[in-house]
Amino acid sequence: MDMGLKEKIAVVTGGGGAICGEISRGLFSEGARVAVWDINLKAARKKVDSLAAGGDRALAVECDVLDRESVERAAERTIGHFGTVDILINGAGGSRREATTSADLAFFDIDKKALSDVVSLNDFSAVSPSQVIGKLFAKKKSGVILNISSVAGFRPLTRSIGYSNGKAATNSFTQWLAVHMAQNYSPSIRVNAVAPGFILTEQNRFLLQDPETGGFTERGKKIVGFVPMARLGKPEEVVGAALWAVSEHAGFVTGAVISVDGGYSAYSGV
Ligand code: NAD
Repeated sequence: MDMGLKEKIAVVTGGGGAICGEISRGLFSEGARVAVWDINLKAARKKVDSLAAGGDRALAVECDVLDRESVERAAERTIGHFGTVDILINGAGGSRREATTSADLAFFDIDKKALSDVVSLNDFSAVSPSQVIGKLFAKKKSGVILNISSVAGFRPLTRSIGYSNGKAATNSFTQWLAVHMAQNYSPSIRVNAVAPGFILTEQNRFLLQDPETGGFTERGKKIVGFVPMARLGKPEEVVGAALWAVSEHAGFVTGAVISVDGGYSAYSGV
């Protein structure tokens, strides 16, 4: 199926990471031009180098999505290079040990700033890019925004308090912004999210994999027991849903949060 993404110009925040790196690769393979925004410029460059051996269809841009000025600079650089933006994927996010309860860290002792940082990283990370690029979409009366949420946004995960709060806010923001853009600027501006389930990457390895044996931790085993497909996902398995959501094939879809989780969020445990 032709996704109709050829020559589209996409910004992918957190594109130097595992899942959004694969989404960047998917967009690039479909013929899109891709600006990989990441706070870690080295990671963004590495991704772009792996994509763009043949030409200037991919661009690495340093950006802290939590800093409005940094986002404005990244947008200027991207628009200077590609001319405009058609697709924004808000993928920067993640969890941190300091906002996760453990045997060493009780809920009562979690530092408010550590908690607020993780909530921000998973909620406000979508806000400044959506303001800066969304303003351009409002002017053009077209554009697509895709947020990367998580199954933790539907029902909180034990221990991951900061992450669960942040992703619940992402889901609410996705629905809010979808309505706001359609009603105030153009029904052709769509805003959706994908909510991946458990995908083994650097951000969650400390929770899922025993560093000594390489096998699952107790938590890892428990999670797999709750996935009807009985396994963790791979970053490349999020790509199909993401490409569909930003393509015209999803032309009547806005305000949706689409699970990509092996059935995890459908399973009650009984
Ligand atoms: P990752 O750590 O590989 O990638 C995250 C990227 O975001 C990194 O390259 C990092 O440098 C970048 N980043 C962090 N803070 C930033 C900032 N302030 N500004 C710009 N970039 C910043 O993680 P991943 O597993 O690929 O996760 C990507 C997204 O998918 C995240 O939003 C994550 O919450 C979500 N997600 C992951 C899983 C999973 O199981 N791995 C599940 C559900 C959702």
